[in-house]
Amino acid sequence: MDYEPVIGLETHVQLKTKSKMWCGCANAFGAPPNTNVCPVCLGLPGVLPVANEEALRLTALTGLLLNCTVSRHAKFDRKNYFYPDMPKNYQITQYDKPSTMNGSVEFEFGAGMARVRITRAHLEEDVGKNFHFDRTSGVDFNRAGVPLMEIVSEPDLTSADMAYEYLNALKDILVYGGVSDCDMEKGMVRCDVNVSVRPRGRKELGAKIEIKNMNSFSGVRRALEYEIPRQIETLEKGGKLIQSTRRWDDVAAVTEEMRTKEHAHDYRYFPEPDLMPFQPTAAWLQEVSRRVVELPLARKQRFMRDYQLPASDAQTFVWDAALGNYFEGIAKQAKNPKAAANWVINNLRAKLAESGVALGDLKFQPGAILELIELVDSGKISGKIAQDVFAETFATGDAPARIVEKKSLAQVSDTGAIEKFCEQAIMANPGPAADYRAGKMAALNFLKGQVMKLSKGKANPALVGEVLERKLKG
Ligand code: ADP
Ligand code: MG
Ligand code: ZN
Repeated sequence: MDYEPVIGLETHVQLKTKSKMWCGCANAFGAPPNTNVCPVCLGLPGVLPVANEEALRLTALTGLLLNCTVSRHAKFDRKNYFYPDMPKNYQITQYDKPSTMNGSVEFEFGAGMARVRITRAHLEEDVGKNFHFDRTSGVDFNRAGVPLMEIVSEPDLTSADMAYEYLNALKDILVYGGVSDCDMEKGMVRCDVNVSVRPRGRKELGAKIEIKNMNSFSGVRRALEYEIPRQIETLEKGGKLIQSTRRWDDVAAVTEEMRTKEHAHDYRYFPEPDLMPFQPTAAWLQEVSRRVVELPLARKQRFMRDYQLPASDAQTFVWDAALGNYFEGIAKQAKNPKAAANWVINNLRAKLAESGVALGDLKFQPGAILELIELVDSGKISGKIAQDVFAETFATGDAPARIVEKKSLAQVSDTGAIEKFCEQAIMANPGPAADYRAGKMAALNFLKGQVMKLSKGKANPALVGEVLERKLKG
């Protein structure tokens, strides 16, 4: 039988706030264990949470970026369970009235586009981190109470690759929106992967199996590449799948069962009594909506359309937004935006990397790149000389035209001068000249090279070719 996978992802993202969700402790990574803590995030008795407004704003902003409805009446709930990294013994989250609902993400997939519906994006808090040493265990509560957003997708994903692309698209959007740095190394994005299989064409979903706590996108893809065939094989052998939770063992590259899934009622959700429901005003939402940015995909498509760039250049300008903004600053005046993109991507970016200079600290005006392109297009200097001129412009801030002038780098297009160089080259190299006359075309390139040398690279190469041929034939 032919089976199809069905995948839904629950993605947890740490929000980019200065302080934690319910207290003033720093939301920072890498501090010594248990130094960013206070009675609130340690769950000591008698304390009260105060919601971090920026986290509420970032969640609403995410809703807008993901085409969700932002709720005018959201609330917080307690999700009760015991785990050593969670000192309150409950997590504050949003259960039945989340901040945002019913959105979608569009992304490039294969040769076309894919769209995944978003069930909800809600706000909750992160937990601490357990460490297991040789004979003891420890808990670091620095992460406890860090604002965490959970983005739940509908089961619209149909392959491991699609899940991977969706996660990357989601990450790009969140980074663009300034919602999260999404630094995977720092564990800022983690996801639970829900996957089932069903006979192709059937409506009902198969038993949902959840792979918990994945911390890399490639891990998600690999786990799915293992889990999907495992489920199909189980069914084909006549076995049954039941709703359960598994973990991914990255070293053995297998998933293994942890437990059969708890149900919602096990958590004894109830409204958080220490927090008011959150009812944003129209003015508050208006303020948040001002922070909506152009999405990465829209930017890519716009760069391709408005500046006739190939997809790869446009993608470079999406990933390196600052470089893209710089490009846009000159592209509007450029006669040939593609040439400007080449200079920015191939030359400027390389110089920035090699010198360690920041884009904001350039010594020259952006217009210098256009000037350089004009110098090449008009035949004033060769592409090769242009590279040297750019290096000098980059180092000194001098305008390209000035450098060309000062160093007399202008291409020699004066036929008289070129004729002289050609005559000299032919005289000095009778062998190659004879070869050319005998029909060896390659000899012409050699002679051309000699002329270029004599002119110190300044002769107009096209003209040199013409004059040489004329002289050799004549
Ligand atoms: P729970 O209440 O157990 O968290 P949900 O219904 O909220 O389950 O779904 C959690 C995630 O699992 C969502 O991303 C959803 O799209 C996905 N999902 C639900 N049912 C299935 C299924 N049968 N197969 C694959 N994914 C599923
Ligand atoms: Mg869930
Ligand atoms: Zn605290």
